[in-house]
Amino acid sequence: MKLEPLPSPIYYRGPISFPNIKLYSMARTEEKKQRQHGMGRHLVLFPCPLEGHLNPMLHLASVLHSEGFSITIIHTHFNSPDPSNYPNFNFKPISDGLQDEEATRTDLMAFISDINVNCKVPFQDCLVRLLLENPQDQIACIISDALMHFTQAIANNMKLPRIILRTSSATSFVTCAAFPLLRQKGYLPIQDPQSEVMVSELPPLRVKDLPNIGTDKLDNLYQLVANMINETKTSRGVISNSFDYLEQMAFAKIRQDFSIPFFPIGPLHKYSSGHSSSLLNHDHSSMAWLDKQAPSSVIYVSFGSLAVMEKTELVEMAWGLANSDQPFLWVIRPGSVHGSEWVELPQGFEEKTRGKGCVVKWAPQKEVLAHPAVGGFWTHCGWNSTVESVCEGVPMLCWPCFGDQRVNARFVTHVWRVGLHIENGLNRRLIENAIKRLMVEMEGEELRKRIMVLKENADCCLRKGGSSYESLHSLIDCILSL
Ligand code: UDP
Repeated sequence: MKLEPLPSPIYYRGPISFPNIKLYSMARTEEKKQRQHGMGRHLVLFPCPLEGHLNPMLHLASVLHSEGFSITIIHTHFNSPDPSNYPNFNFKPISDGLQDEEATRTDLMAFISDINVNCKVPFQDCLVRLLLENPQDQIACIISDALMHFTQAIANNMKLPRIILRTSSATSFVTCAAFPLLRQKGYLPIQDPQSEVMVSELPPLRVKDLPNIGTDKLDNLYQLVANMINETKTSRGVISNSFDYLEQMAFAKIRQDFSIPFFPIGPLHKYSSGHSSSLLNHDHSSMAWLDKQAPSSVIYVSFGSLAVMEKTELVEMAWGLANSDQPFLWVIRPGSVHGSEWVELPQGFEEKTRGKGCVVKWAPQKEVLAHPAVGGFWTHCGWNSTVESVCEGVPMLCWPCFGDQRVNARFVTHVWRVGLHIENGLNRRLIENAIKRLMVEMEGEELRKRIMVLKENADCCLRKGGSSYESLHSLIDCILSL
């Protein structure tokens, strides 16, 4: 079966409520009457140009702008954000030295390393130009993605303070910081025979849950992680897209080991319902399809912006979904199957799932997860997806692929216990069973109850007196004191 090309976008105009946005805004408006906060002081932000990194940085920019700071976003040409979505920000593109072919290759580690080398001079030149253009307008601080570690040296050159934004979980950050120890103890590099061994220093992680980026150039990976950690230690603070209730242990460890301020102010996407910063166009027809489904009946399937699967895995997924007999909304991103830009689903799949399934190339995920018809999320456990699912109280089926996703999946299934793990290869019977356990059996009900507690805590942390609300306050005070 060949999938139809994307329909022309039908924009969803239905009501979507974001209750904690309202709570946050009410408390904040009151407070702003009393304080002037940023008072127009200038912040320069530099995101890592990947979907899961760009979105939280732009959310952070919006939060800080609403607190009275003026915002300049310096960004690469590759995956550049759309300035028309953010008329209040000043956007400055810089050369990234990436050829198209080079930029889109699947060697993520080389991609990140190249940006860290290629952007040094353009980034510094851009800062110099900004200061020359407006000599009165001092830059209060640079805020850059933790992976963009080269910005610390530039900040030092320019005598500007730098704060980092960590867009993934605090736990995976702690794990990365432990790499030297994990290597010394022989957990890393990961060897197949010991992949099930528990890492006693980082419970409940097993060796196979440790962050991994699928490269044979391990020395380069270790160097990249070391640079990220070292340049974080020399920064003036860490902002985290997480919240207290979720990762208390990791927060305590960071506060103990990094002698710099730590500001967990997440979930960042909940501060405003503003423009989507998505690099791909959302297919809003999925929302109209969801409107016709029964409450909590649909399993939403999406593996983020980078994960790539084998054709055989896609086929097993298709039959697992079809045989589960559960309605599904499935995102198949172009290029997400090895070796082909687009895919053919197996013969007979369409007939078997007619009326039960909707397949799109990219969905408005946050709205999808907030839709009452969605009862489960089969996810790769990218940090944004994990937090978005928690915030909407949707239990998860975890199929982590690389990077920090395995750490996040282990926490979903064994710490918060709000999801099930699909492990040891994909096959249709295993998938069918897992979907039924999540969507219709008692086990799924238990997961749903537990994730509702996390959701309530996510709501609370943004209210006045809540942990993220207070952390944001401290962050603003910190920036103003720099
Ligand atoms: N996303 C989306 N539509 C989709 C799939 C994903 O808008 O169909 C968004 C999702 O809401 C999240 C981001 O893409 O904010 C993916 O980030 P995540 O950290 O989960 O994974 P990554 O793409 O970095 O692997």
